[in-house]
Amino acid sequence: MTSLPLVFDAPKAALPPRHLADLSPAERRAALAELGEQSFRADQLSRHYFHRLTHRPEQLTDLPAASRDRLCGALLPELLTEVRHVETDRGTTRKTLWKLHDGTLVESVLMRYRDRLTVCISSQAGCGMACPFCATGQGGLKRNLSTAEIVEQAVAAARVAAAGELPGGPVRLSNVVFMGMGEPLANYRRVVGALHRLVDPSPDGLGLAQRSVTMSTVGLVPAIRRLAEEGLQVTLAVSLHAPDDELRDTLVPVNTRWQVREVLEAADDYAARTGRRYSIEYAMIRDVNDQAWRADLLGQLLSGRLAHVNLIPLNPTPGSQWDASPKRAEEAFIQRLTAHRVPVTVRDTRGRDIDGACGQLAANG
Ligand code: SAH
Repeated sequence: MTSLPLVFDAPKAALPPRHLADLSPAERRAALAELGEQSFRADQLSRHYFHRLTHRPEQLTDLPAASRDRLCGALLPELLTEVRHVETDRGTTRKTLWKLHDGTLVESVLMRYRDRLTVCISSQAGCGMACPFCATGQGGLKRNLSTAEIVEQAVAAARVAAAGELPGGPVRLSNVVFMGMGEPLANYRRVVGALHRLVDPSPDGLGLAQRSVTMSTVGLVPAIRRLAEEGLQVTLAVSLHAPDDELRDTLVPVNTRWQVREVLEAADDYAARTGRRYSIEYAMIRDVNDQAWRADLLGQLLSGRLAHVNLIPLNPTPGSQWDASPKRAEEAFIQRLTAHRVPVTVRDTRGRDIDGACGQLAANG
């Protein structure tokens, strides 16, 4: 196994143009004042972008014709250009490849379920966390995404859904998971900005329920603690993948910095502060982390904690020597966790065949 270096700070890159979704409501009013417009126009623009999901000059019919182009140019620039999308699961899973202003590529994945519509979004182009089983991790970190580049992925998904482009007719976006490319907590400030845009009530933001937004992290302990202080109640997911430090050091290299015990303590504090149960992500890798004794160790660790385990059948990535655990090992693992009274679910493998499942996003143009 090759070991890549851990990268916490993204390379410096030219920022994309400023966008409404980068700004707090107060900053939006200030931006409009700078443009010589009255501040109530900020609410009008926000209502277009976050509520009506409109963003083109000709759609802004409640604004004076003379201002439309100028305001769109100044505050609603096109940040994401679709390169292509691919569908599977009879059209209910759709992966989109986006090109950013500087040619950088990122992906997002939209999944329609019976009771919800989830979009899995990227927070960075590439990733610096170097987890050896993850496709994104193999390419290194290219750059951080801006707040608006993150939010736009969710808004684009909401537009597709509202337009009735998914089988089953028009539907509202209900869930957002930060499980696409990148380590969201390594792009902390912009990601927290994006969280506000997602959960702030309309017209300031999309008005999603906080618990319907999931922040997934390798376990950057100081950032988890900082997030607990934000006064948000988004769901936290921790990518544990091993209950013991020896194995986790290799599967999630950042474990050499913050170990299992510290990560779980930070997650416990997050749960105590927010009242929200957290999830433990565990990719089941054949003969690597799926042994009965590891299930018992995980069960002991989590028993009595406000945690729930989400097993992910490993999605093998190109060139990797690893494979998903056989069903039998998975069932035994579940049984042992259940014996420790730890709630456990198995994630479905949506989007596998279009390289759109967990850990497969690699954005090769
Ligand atoms: N950086 C964040 C988000 C990553 S993607 C994090 O690590 O949590 C979301 C989940 O998919 C993580 O738990 C990640 O470890 C997992 N994952 C990555 N590659 C995978 C693969 N090949 N098969 C299954 N899960 C994978």
